[in-house]
Amino acid sequence: MAVVMKPGANEEDIKRVVRFVRERYGLRVDVSRGEFQTVIGLIGNEDRVDFEQLAALPGVERAYRITSPYRLVSRNFFPENRVIEVKGVKIGEGNVPVFIAGPCAIESREQIFRIAREVHEAGANILRGGAFKPRTSVHSFQGLGEKGLEYLAGAGEEYGMPTVSEVRSEKHVELVAKYVDILQIGARNMYNQDLIEEAAKQKKPILLKRNFGASIEEFLSFAERAAAQGNKDIILCERGVLPIGRGRQFTRYSLDLSAVPVIRKETYLPIIVDPSHGTGRRDLIYSMSKAAIAAGAHGLMIEAHYNPDEALSDGPQMITPKELKRIIDVCKRIYAVNVMEDNMP
Ligand code: PEP
Ligand code: MN
Repeated sequence: MAVVMKPGANEEDIKRVVRFVRERYGLRVDVSRGEFQTVIGLIGNEDRVDFEQLAALPGVERAYRITSPYRLVSRNFFPENRVIEVKGVKIGEGNVPVFIAGPCAIESREQIFRIAREVHEAGANILRGGAFKPRTSVHSFQGLGEKGLEYLAGAGEEYGMPTVSEVRSEKHVELVAKYVDILQIGARNMYNQDLIEEAAKQKKPILLKRNFGASIEEFLSFAERAAAQGNKDIILCERGVLPIGRGRQFTRYSLDLSAVPVIRKETYLPIIVDPSHGTGRRDLIYSMSKAAIAAGAHGLMIEAHYNPDEALSDGPQMITPKELKRIIDVCKRIYAVNVMEDNMP
């Protein structure tokens, strides 16, 4: 349910609604203050709530039921776009696309410092690198853990780039949050509600990747879990879904670019695209990056390495910083065309 306050409602009116909902029904609330109006969302099971009574409280314009499983992140509930600012980098509508780049995994201090310098020179504005890697095989490189995070933070500091790294388990949430600016929840953990809620409590932006089998409704419903913790700094990331049948012959996943305009319509949160995991092939990153920005993505996450063939993980999908620069340059031009044409949904 959403309670929309009148433009002239005062603080006392807002508090009265919040008290009423908490005390009478034991529900939690989310108060979204817009430029003109405040919208109060109810969190929890609202079956018992008498919304006619709520609508009659002073300062209330209307109260209505929302049946969608995601409300707090829904554009219907709150139309203003969310722009997330991390150390001066703005992510979201109305801003040039953000370019998140770096290796799949942090391999050594030298490696991440060198890549940080090179992707920074290529025009990237956020540095990525995995320290707690989700790997299929227990025999693969698992990441450097805390040491890796320390190197990542050092490299980000050195080149003035905010950092992002995956938090794979609830038990590492505080540790990862100590070192990085954005907490990544990987595709495999998109359904992990405890991890999402724990990460959201850190009051740092979350980068939530869509699971390769998830519907968009499920994706946004798990973003809702972070929002229900009071953290709406959520960057959504499309990273490909499982290819059907023999589609798998050519790509690791199928990048679902139609998800971009759909998500832009459904939510006010920024949506970025990861063409690296989405294709698994370095020769496809250029075209899929261009397509993602043309479709309205607010940024890209791209895996880059100065020596992709010797990378300890995901070498086949990694590009060089030189190729990254070519991609960033062309994507900025495509973004300018989008703005000029002003035809985004
Ligand atoms: C990653 O970005 O490092 C990663 C493992 O991606 P995903 O969770 O999308 O597979
Ligand atoms: Mn990877």
